[in-house]
Amino acid sequence: MSLNRREFLASTLALTAASAAAQPLEDLWGGNVIDIHSHLRRDNDGNAMHMDGCGVSHALLLSRGAPVEQIHAMQAKYPHRFVWSSSVDVTQHLASRLLTEAVKKGAIGFGELKSNVTANGPELQRLYGLAAELDVPILIHFQEFPHYEGETNYATGIKKLARMLETYPKTRFVGHADAFWANISADYANQEAYPSGPIKPGGVTDKLLSDYENMYGDMSANSGNNALSRDPEFTKDFLKRHQDKLMFGSDCSCADGHGAGVSQDRNPAAKRLSGKCVARETLTVLKRSTTPEVFRKLTWENAQRIYRIPKWDA
Ligand SMILES: [Zn+2]
Ligand SMILES: [Zn+2]
Repeated sequence: MSLNRREFLASTLALTAASAAAQPLEDLWGGNVIDIHSHLRRDNDGNAMHMDGCGVSHALLLSRGAPVEQIHAMQAKYPHRFVWSSSVDVTQHLASRLLTEAVKKGAIGFGELKSNVTANGPELQRLYGLAAELDVPILIHFQEFPHYEGETNYATGIKKLARMLETYPKTRFVGHADAFWANISADYANQEAYPSGPIKPGGVTDKLLSDYENMYGDMSANSGNNALSRDPEFTKDFLKRHQDKLMFGSDCSCADGHGAGVSQDRNPAAKRLSGKCVARETLTVLKRSTTPEVFRKLTWENAQRIYRIPKWDA
């Protein structure tokens, strides 16, 4: 049972009596929206402040390890709005144990996993197997092009990921970041982080989503927004084609849901979104590129199903 928009607003209103800080959420997007890529912020109010500013009702918090105390405090203060996922450095030998413990404590996913390993290597393969065993999705940051001097790459070799999808058919893979989204175009050859211009059909990402039931996509960050913005006609068909596989996420680090305080200093290639709220920008692209029915799948229904979110009790 999930809270519908009216119940959610009603519960928010009820809370107002108890807490002066709680404001009814503005209905910018015509219903509930879950952001599946919301990094847990230091301050217990930071995530909710961001969501309230950009009209996002719910979030999957991506945390490092299992900070259950903080998450429980946030769930108590903002009931029915948060679920969480756990990440570790996949190269550490306790990775499997830590992730298993996090799931036992309530995490509903692995991720985002962002380590300097190959996508088909032993570290991630162990976790592909474990994710299937624990029945949770695994969210991976794929990047083959450093954003700044001294940065590394993550989960490299996405062009060969098909073999992993075949080897681990019960694992729900969620793709994210530069290499996942740049490969939407068939002509991508790791030449830059965020290619622009028309998309050449038949890209690796499109094929993985079409050919493998267990491949899903997280549309967050500049990478997702860039891929969906560069060729509007392609985007319309792409979203229609993969309407049951894609999920809205923001990966936005702005403070207020309006673009304040965000810094792209470390990622000059992503400056097209500096001063903007990635959540608002991507929701706007999705809204104008789809029907209301598909928009609802991308921003709500798919995440409920793929992450097997049982109900919105805190
Ligand atoms: Zn990432
Ligand atoms: Zn934002």
